[in-house]
Amino acid sequence: MELTAHEAWVKIRASAQGVLPEQTYRTWLASTTALSLSDDTLVVSAPTKFAVEWVEDKYGTLLRDIAERELGARLRLRFEHQGGEERIEFPQITEPFPGEPGHVLAPDSAARGVRPAVALLNERYTFDRFVIGRSNELAAAASDRVAAAPATTYNPLFIWGGTGLGKTHLMHAIGNTILERRPDRQIAYVPSEQFTNEMIDAIKTGQTALFRERYRRIDILLVDDVHFIANKEGTQEEFFHTFNALYDAKKQIVITSDRAPQEIPGLQERLVSRFEWGLVTDIQPPDLETRSAILRKKADEDAIEIEDDVIEYVARNRRTSVRQLEGALIKLLAFSSLSRREISLKMAQDALGPEVVHPEDEPLEVSPEEVRARTASSWGVSVEALMSKRRNRTITVPRRVAMYLIKTNLDLPYSDIGHLFGGRNHSTVIYSVNKVEAEMASDPGLRTRIGQLQQELFRS
Ligand code: ADP
Ligand code: MG
Repeated sequence: MELTAHEAWVKIRASAQGVLPEQTYRTWLASTTALSLSDDTLVVSAPTKFAVEWVEDKYGTLLRDIAERELGARLRLRFEHQGGEERIEFPQITEPFPGEPGHVLAPDSAARGVRPAVALLNERYTFDRFVIGRSNELAAAASDRVAAAPATTYNPLFIWGGTGLGKTHLMHAIGNTILERRPDRQIAYVPSEQFTNEMIDAIKTGQTALFRERYRRIDILLVDDVHFIANKEGTQEEFFHTFNALYDAKKQIVITSDRAPQEIPGLQERLVSRFEWGLVTDIQPPDLETRSAILRKKADEDAIEIEDDVIEYVARNRRTSVRQLEGALIKLLAFSSLSRREISLKMAQDALGPEVVHPEDEPLEVSPEEVRARTASSWGVSVEALMSKRRNRTITVPRRVAMYLIKTNLDLPYSDIGHLFGGRNHSTVIYSVNKVEAEMASDPGLRTRIGQLQQELFRS
């Protein structure tokens, strides 16, 4: 039976509606539409770029699983944003610049592009919901201090660590706490890529003065994933001045990154030293006990009934990040709902695959960064080259292989993998992974080489 794109998507979406909270479904999936279905790819459109990223990131795995079960075939799902004018991508939580006397206001449309988009702070990302363990206790304590007394103890607060370990969560928790106590505070949550884009727009439209003015009126600046401004000289210059202005005005700055300041390649020395003025702290992957505690808390919060043996099974088998743990829970839920089976140990084994035995349960050695580094060195190129825009084959082959290894072994969302490679978008990553698969099929040499690397990294 041939389904049209629309019919296929309606089917998948209806299934997703059964497993996702109603609010989630309405916010993110109700407004999506199918664009096309060709060969094995279903292209779905979401209303904004942000929605595309979000759906891909949070529900991509779930939707792909559902697609596979509902339609039988290994269907590729791709999310796209369809043209059209896009206003601020992030819903606003406070009016960015209330019309108090003395505030520079430019509510006209020309100014829209240069207004810092005050992002919606995810209200689920609170301190209450953050499970503290050895791996994150310093970062959590420092964040708590900053939220309690901004710009007094640690300024800036710099939190670094691998993907999916809770950096963004802590940052939002700081924002949520301050906002609750002081709703009048201007809080800006800005992924550093967004800072870059806004600045570029401001330059294009000749509104740099306004851009500056606006960033300097913020009380709490939360800059997420600052490593994306590496090698972007103009952005670093601008950020340096914004930083100084806010710091001098005793405003709180919180920064996250995938590594410590001095380890970020292509970051100007003066920024490195400023980032080290306050407190630099890291988050490591959670140990077994913390992973179990996180799973238990998430299950309880969502009123999911799940026995301890299942929790332990998942905790033992999902070791890289908290995001992976969450993905496993969602998968269990979907599996339970679709197969109409209670969540049990047997069912978890069916859904998540056979147990991987880690006798000592040492912290997991393989991070996506490590896969990237090992692949680079195996091909004799630098990590920076993999993260750069360079397109010659000496670089593109190892870059794609690294993406492929990360996707197939660590199952990170495509957009996160893109971030690890200089901010490439998720469709580029999907393309790269597919390309490696195709090349492996026709090139035994490449297949062996990747197999060896796979064995070294993951012993599998
Ligand atoms: P990062 O920004 O480091 O990539 P996130 O903050 O986005 O990671 O965290 C990924 C997911 O894991 C989020 O849904 C977050 O709520 C959850 N999470 C991370 N750490 C914890 C924790 N210690 N307790 C509870 N949830 C956590
Ligand atoms: Mg993050």
